[in-house]
Amino acid sequence: MSSSAPRPGRCIGVGVGPGDPELITVKALRVIQAAPVVAYFVAVKRTSNSRRVVEGYLDENAGRRELCLTYPVTTEMPAGGAYETLMADFYDASAKQIAEVLDAGDDVAVLCEGDPFFYGSFMYLHNRLHDRYEVEVIPGVPAMLAGSAALGAPLVCLNEVVSVLSGVLPSDELEHRLRAADAAVVMKLGRNLAKVRDAVERAGLLDRAHYVERVTMTSERLLPLADVDPSTAPYFSMVIIPSATAPKR
Ligand code: SAH
Repeated sequence: MSSSAPRPGRCIGVGVGPGDPELITVKALRVIQAAPVVAYFVAVKRTSNSRRVVEGYLDENAGRRELCLTYPVTTEMPAGGAYETLMADFYDASAKQIAEVLDAGDDVAVLCEGDPFFYGSFMYLHNRLHDRYEVEVIPGVPAMLAGSAALGAPLVCLNEVVSVLSGVLPSDELEHRLRAADAAVVMKLGRNLAKVRDAVERAGLLDRAHYVERVTMTSERLLPLADVDPSTAPYFSMVIIPSATAPKR
């Protein structure tokens, strides 16, 4: 390396937890406060939730730069063709933006909802950057675990199996997997809520299913799934079917 080229910065995927600013780890906070550049993904015309989680911890006068990576699409779409190409291009462009900062010698902390590697977009930066740069991951509290805590309902016990499913899956597959599980979490509801509710009902689990919205945020809502208007659900929502055999409250 020539003496004029700075040592490249590090890219750090930082889990900020499910929404409550107190559910961030000490390590995540230290890394975010030290980073000269903070990056985050955000949906079109929305504000970043992970940015909001750390809002109170960022010193306005620290001279920190922010890199806002805006998704080209908004809803939970089935994987395939045009969607995949669009997203691949977007992640390529995002990785390039981050690489430019790293090349200039600055570290970048990428804020991630919950845990970075649990259905998190950070994995698409990680796989594009880790060959060329130092890339690190700091785990965070996943929303589903904040969900079982908020419900006061143990998720799994002893030798039980928990299935974590995406609401984007076809109805029959959801039903099949729900029937096979001792406990389950269905993420990514959005416009899939009615389909998910039907699959849960057909699997005979409606009486055990909870709808969990914006868990640990100030607008948190916890309801029996049976009581929810199934027309649509916000991005931050999931269904949790806790263990049937764990000790009850
Ligand atoms: N990395 C995140 C998950 C990202 S996938 C984690 O570790 O939790 C996005 C999905 O997570 C959403 O569609 C929703 O189902 C769920 N989710 C994330 N945060 C949530 C919250 N605070 N309340 C309810 N569901 C949430």
